[in-house]
Amino acid sequence: MNDRQSIFDAVYKEGSATTPENPEDVRPQHETQMPEGTLYLPVFYDTLKTLAQTVEVDYYLPGCPPEAERIWAAIEAIVAGKLPPRGSVLGLHTTVCDECKRTRHEKKIKKFYRTWQIIPDEETCLLEQGLLCCGIATRAGCGALCPAVNSPCIGCHGGNDGVEDYGARLQSAVASVIDSNDADEIERIIADGIPDPVGTFYRFSLAGSLLRRSKRD
Ligand code: SF4
Repeated sequence: MNDRQSIFDAVYKEGSATTPENPEDVRPQHETQMPEGTLYLPVFYDTLKTLAQTVEVDYYLPGCPPEAERIWAAIEAIVAGKLPPRGSVLGLHTTVCDECKRTRHEKKIKKFYRTWQIIPDEETCLLEQGLLCCGIATRAGCGALCPAVNSPCIGCHGGNDGVEDYGARLQSAVASVIDSNDADEIERIIADGIPDPVGTFYRFSLAGSLLRRSKRD
């Protein structure tokens, strides 16, 4: 699924998992006339773009939402006239792992788990315990709040400096910790533990990735 038509077919076509009955093949419309007036839904575009692919962005403030400390630091930089060059990220320049208090050893993983499948211990790096924690590629500034409460980082601060493609960076990090040199076993470890690789690795960044659209498009 990579365009509006195929996504709508998967969701609204009669017999699909989410819409077992739709004999008139009703699809979302941007405008619908009702007795009370016109109802509007947001337009569902074929291609999702980043903000910077649409307008010139002055500065980025990471976070979902940005933490109060980051907002305050940005205000201080504005007031002091110490803003970095236009287009910069107003944030820290390290990774969530650098802020995380969990202990790290050499990572070797034979199996990945979904968050509901295990209760991790509260001291050891979550990635070492088989939970896909995105802290290794993610910009710091949150205080590693999620790993602190046994929840893997999902990458909402975006990539750290020098990370051109967040998902690729994460995949590379994950590939390096899988404890196998056997292609079939590696494939099985990923298929069993990471059932939605694109959604996992590019949760917040697919529109800005180097992948863009499929070759078909
Ligand atoms: Fe990094 Fe996550 Fe491990 Fe903490 S738990 S050290 S953020 S990979």
